Amino acid sequence: MPDGAPHTAPVFGLDNSYARDLPGTFVAWRAARVAAPRLLKLNRELAEELGLDTATLDGPLGAEVFSGNLPPSDAEPLAQAYAGHQFGGFSPQLGDGRALLLGEVIDRKGRRRDIALKGSGQTPFSRRGDGKAAIGPVLREYLIGEAMHALGIPTTRALAAVATGEQILRDTALPGAVLTRVAASHIRVGTFQFFAARGDRENLAKLTTYTLARHYPAVASAEPPALALLGAVTEAQAQLIAQWMAVGFIHGVMNTDNMTLSGETIDYGPCAFMDAYAPGTVFSSIDHQGRYAYGNQPGIAQWNLARLAEALLPLIDPNEDRAVERATDVLQGFVPAYERAWTDRMRAKLGLAEAEDGDAALALGLLAIMEAERADWTLVFRRLSRVAQGDASAFRLLFGNPAAVDDWLTLWQARCMRDGRPAEVRAAAMDRVNPLVIPRNHKVEEAIAAAVWENDLAPFEALLDQIQRPFEEMEGREAFVLPPPQSFTENFRTFCGT
Ligand code: AMP
Ligand code: MG
Repeated sequence: MPDGAPHTAPVFGLDNSYARDLPGTFVAWRAARVAAPRLLKLNRELAEELGLDTATLDGPLGAEVFSGNLPPSDAEPLAQAYAGHQFGGFSPQLGDGRALLLGEVIDRKGRRRDIALKGSGQTPFSRRGDGKAAIGPVLREYLIGEAMHALGIPTTRALAAVATGEQILRDTALPGAVLTRVAASHIRVGTFQFFAARGDRENLAKLTTYTLARHYPAVASAEPPALALLGAVTEAQAQLIAQWMAVGFIHGVMNTDNMTLSGETIDYGPCAFMDAYAPGTVFSSIDHQGRYAYGNQPGIAQWNLARLAEALLPLIDPNEDRAVERATDVLQGFVPAYERAWTDRMRAKLGLAEAEDGDAALALGLLAIMEAERADWTLVFRRLSRVAQGDASAFRLLFGNPAAVDDWLTLWQARCMRDGRPAEVRAAAMDRVNPLVIPRNHKVEEAIAAAVWENDLAPFEALLDQIQRPFEEMEGREAFVLPPPQSFTENFRTFCGT
């Protein structure tokens, strides 16, 4: 640590309920020491929200703390056990192979939130991995998480990014980094699968009680608890996926170990926002089958929930047939819950206040034209508010053949008449739900490349600033608003970057 820097571990006010209540579900562990940590970014707003001492953490002390070299004195670092279906195949043991839960803080609003390191070195769950993370994926997770948060979508968030001063070996040597992540919890579908696969009913039951109390206290006393948990998670995930779909977000790796029980988005790897609308869009370089394509996400979510249901069966009913029947009933709630959530989101995006039966069909009608005419997901909805105010020109230009959308516009305008809000009110409401700026892939790549190869964080900071205010009309945003040239889109893939 540099001369004159403080060198006592801070106190975060951690309360480590996972460590206390769930012995046998994790391994107590320590972060690997890193050579020369340097704080790339502290999320000051989030640090304040957590009640941390922002002023002292935003500097050399923060670099020590968030690299894992000097964990908070009240941390009880641990690696969580979990399993998971990855691209459909079951791995009975994954676990935190490069992450550590430091503990939980109760934030200023009274919410319990995990603070965890990612990229903090090998653990007993590392298998053949080095336990490390590279700067690129760390900054990507930072940016996309903050964008999702600004869009109002439940998500884990980055508290800090630290460069370790070490080179790590991927396809080439890359600068290493550690991400500090804040989550409602890190409990995953795969966490339940881990104990189910071992027939460890006791830990499965403890985990169920714990998760219900932490995330769904309102139904914690329902019987059987495991069925209540399944129902609550089903609803939360239906809401979450509808929100992803509404902003054109593609997670990229919806393995069951990357799906939370809390309903937060987690584990931003090869994820991206769509530019032109194409439901088959896949960004992940490892998703050769298109399993996690944009349009498959609701179906995959339900598939993952079915894996959660399977894990919970022994707790649902001693009679297996009866347990399957009850779990199936609950799982079948996913489709209507999702469709309701999706239709509500689309209705808002179309500027409609009151529900009508044909609203989903109206939205689907627009999507079909967008797909055929390669129209940009984000800008179509954003510019529709200008149509509401009487100017269709910018909107029509988004379609390969602008005339192709005219019949739909007539239908939509008739629907708006029945909805009966003044144009200004409708347009303002639309601009509050339809973002102008999303983290466009080419801007994300640009920011990451500058940070990794030129040690220049200015493009990252500029993009972060933009995506934190997605709905505002401001001067000088144009470069962040427009989609990339076609040539970029055709060649773009994001990499798992592990
Ligand atoms: P992820 O792709 O980050 O969701 O990780 C999937 C699984 O692989 C988790 O169990 C991770 O802990 C593990 N993993 C990913 N990258 C590494 C790494 N570099 N070293 C050790 N384990 C890793
Ligand atoms: Mg993961």
